[in-house]
Amino acid sequence: MNNFGWYEPKTIEQASAAMKSDGALMAGGIDLLCMLKERLIEPKRVVNLKSVSGMRTIENGKTIRIGALVTPETIEGDANLRKRATVLAEAASVVASPQIRNVGTLGGNLCQRPRCWYFRDKDVFCLKKGGDRCYSVDGSNEYHAILGGGPCFIVHPSDLAPALISLDATVKTNTRTIKIDEFFVLPEKNVHAENVLEPGEIITEVELPAEWLDAKSSYVKVRERPSFDWALTSCAVAFKMNGSKVSAARIAFGGVAPIPWRSKEAEEELVGKEISESTARTAGRAAMADALPLADNPYKVELAVNTLVMAALQAVQ
Ligand SMILES: Cc1cc2nc3c(=O)[nH]c(=O)nc-3n(C[C@H](O)[C@H](O)[C@H](O)COP(=O)(O)OP(=O)(O)OC[C@H]3O[C@@H](n4cnc5c(N)ncnc54)[C@H](O)[C@@H]3O)c2cc1C
Repeated sequence: MNNFGWYEPKTIEQASAAMKSDGALMAGGIDLLCMLKERLIEPKRVVNLKSVSGMRTIENGKTIRIGALVTPETIEGDANLRKRATVLAEAASVVASPQIRNVGTLGGNLCQRPRCWYFRDKDVFCLKKGGDRCYSVDGSNEYHAILGGGPCFIVHPSDLAPALISLDATVKTNTRTIKIDEFFVLPEKNVHAENVLEPGEIITEVELPAEWLDAKSSYVKVRERPSFDWALTSCAVAFKMNGSKVSAARIAFGGVAPIPWRSKEAEEELVGKEISESTARTAGRAAMADALPLADNPYKVELAVNTLVMAALQAVQ
């Protein structure tokens, strides 16, 4: 890695200003240090967000506010979240390994960079790094996008993100409030970034609105290596129920698209219906109707359908 300075800001304003003068923000450091070691970034300074006080608590009220420095381990173990936002606690419990869940943070999890092997290879100058092509198109693409891809075909690596979409969360930064549906950005809009954060913008907390707390919700993740791995496919579902029927639904997939992929098609399929294997499968097929798999990943289409089926049944059991 390159030589870099170390900065311990005391306030968000100091951290933000340092980021604007070639400083890289670090929270848990798990992804940022990989990026440094792989020479994918070469900042003048690393700005340690953990030296700023606050952002480490979960505040329960009408809404639930989770600080940006809260770890997946804390989310996973929080009894109130487990009860009122089950999908998020379940997603946190399958992030990486126990060690990473203990050190990583909510803000870092949402802003981690993609794991595409072409992007992560310092010697490959791909589209995302300013080059002129996405090597996954004609290369090895078994882990790449089947929806929303082009011109780049990464998949978004976060497990917490689909869960937060299913709960209609709000991301708060030092300068504004962003609905989670508007936080992530497709490569066709901006191939160099995965979210809409501006230079110097820092997530301070994520808020779960009252409207989706206590919904019946669940997160299912399918991975090659069960001990710790990113999702081949994952699915977050939240249902409001009227008796045994769904009155409102929010559904998002992980592992299938460059952003956590909300499926309004699947949601519409399930509203007014009881959840059964059959209705969930129809919803899954609706979600994947526009899928355009690459050469090595047609398996993801049926896997995603089945992931939704498992998540939906688990949510209402
Ligand atoms: C081996 C391995 C396996 C993994 N498996 C999974 C997995 O299965 N599921 C999963 O979801 N993740 C997985 N991860 C990713 C891991 O969870 C993330 O790297 C971690 O969540 C990042 O959190 P962090 O706090 O360490 O972020 P950092 O590494 O500190 O930062 C990551 C990025 O986010 C930015 N950032 C951090 N905090 C903020 C903030 N508050 N506001 C704005 N920008 C910010 C940083 O500038 C940096 O660009 C895995 C990582 C590894 C190394």
